[in-house]
Amino acid sequence: MTQPVPDTFRESLITASEFTITYELVPGRGSGGKRLEKILQLAEDARSDGRIKAFSITDNPGGHPALSPLSLGLDIQAMGISPLLHFSLKDKNRNMAESQLFECHRHQLLNLLVLGGDFPRYGFQGQAMPVFDLDSPQLLSLIERLRHNFTVKKGAPGQAMDLPKMDFFAGCVVSPFKTLESEQVWQYVKLLTKIQCGAQFVISQLGYDIKKYRELITFLHGHQINIPVMANIFVPSLSVARIMNQGRVPGVIFPDKLLQEMETEAGSEDKGEEARLQRGAAMIAALREMGYSGIHLGGNNLNFESISYLLNTAEKMNGKEYLEQIHFPEPVTWYLLDTSGKAEKKRHMPLLYKVNHFIHNQVFSPDGSLFNIAMKISTCSLNNRYLTRFYTFIEHISKKILFHCRMCGDCTLASSSYLCPQSGCPKKMVNGPCGGSNKGFCEVYPNERRCFWVRSYHRGPKPDSRNISSTDPIPPKDWSLDRTSSWLNYFSGKDHCKLPARKDLKQRRKV
Ligand code: SF4
Repeated sequence: MTQPVPDTFRESLITASEFTITYELVPGRGSGGKRLEKILQLAEDARSDGRIKAFSITDNPGGHPALSPLSLGLDIQAMGISPLLHFSLKDKNRNMAESQLFECHRHQLLNLLVLGGDFPRYGFQGQAMPVFDLDSPQLLSLIERLRHNFTVKKGAPGQAMDLPKMDFFAGCVVSPFKTLESEQVWQYVKLLTKIQCGAQFVISQLGYDIKKYRELITFLHGHQINIPVMANIFVPSLSVARIMNQGRVPGVIFPDKLLQEMETEAGSEDKGEEARLQRGAAMIAALREMGYSGIHLGGNNLNFESISYLLNTAEKMNGKEYLEQIHFPEPVTWYLLDTSGKAEKKRHMPLLYKVNHFIHNQVFSPDGSLFNIAMKISTCSLNNRYLTRFYTFIEHISKKILFHCRMCGDCTLASSSYLCPQSGCPKKMVNGPCGGSNKGFCEVYPNERRCFWVRSYHRGPKPDSRNISSTDPIPPKDWSLDRTSSWLNYFSGKDHCKLPARKDLKQRRKV
């Protein structure tokens, strides 16, 4: 087991007077080569400089296979700099996630950035299977348990046992840059849920709308949340700016106006290099003064000389003087704190929602008029093999027609306005959307399908979008229930709702 190593990242981030700087490394496919040599050279230069407190390392970025962040993390750690590993869930199920957490702990790789991750793309002989067994709030809950003595239940491998405390420092991501009310409200709801599940710091998505950067800080302060928040600043080259502007990087909004400015700058002698670094430095200075705890820096074709120039220039700047020059809002966008903006028009009158909600409450709520009879029928069916099959068949047919149900056995329809995330969301997100949507469209089907959670927002009752609160996180689905009746699982207390036994319900009613 690796001996404890100084954690420059955590120490800096939890020290309120420090402005923490991290830099994002993007390993490529393969275990070596020029790209990796360049990365390691940059890390070596940064170590002697001392201002960068951590290197964050992406986890199969863009959904493509790449060198594992654990492997590069060990190299970075050996150089004396803290690694901040991206821990994504697209390629690993819960057991693999737990196993990798043990591996991280064993090697003292304790700083983790938890995220769902981009949808998996090509791999060996075709596109990889998306996993998403857990989502980020669920993984944060697992990490939180590992941080405070996790008792493994009897019957699990290793039998009943207490795992030793693992002192992870785990953060989460959020995008304040969504253009639609529905997308933005969900981002903030999910952020609160992630913090409730144990996120210890927050890193924003990259963006160029300064008003939205300010909104994130103000939103958290308004909720009395004082965990460190870092702003993601990306200094793109012109070619990458064009790709981002076309919406080809999941969840990234790159404004036309900024691209036009960069195209003009590219005509200068240095092809716009000085201008892009100046803009990056002004962003650092402005966000430092806005109250961010630090910046999470990234960019292409940046060698350490350019990074050093960026940081030196930012140190000498008064951020307030540059706010206008670095503010690139989308022409039409919704702001949480600007009530003059138009609220998004609800597209459907949620009649279907009302009918479903009424029936759901009557049948599944212990106070509903049909609850007792439904409970009796379910209990009888459970005791007879043929009745169980018939009951399951009826549920399957009716829910397949009404909700495109996949019979996952643990129904969460009521939490997403009676739309099924198992069939409607490619990442099967049950606790709110991923960060990949763009202008309301799903990351996986851009300009083709609306994001599942945008649809859910429009179908449900009108939320108070200016008064956002967290939702109760839905725990991971128990896969032993797959292809079984979710109704039977609900009434027998096996699903995530954990309905109390009948006698306890009666007792509760008397009280
Ligand atoms: S439907 Fe929404 S939450 Fe699901 S993958 Fe697409 S963008 Fe993400």
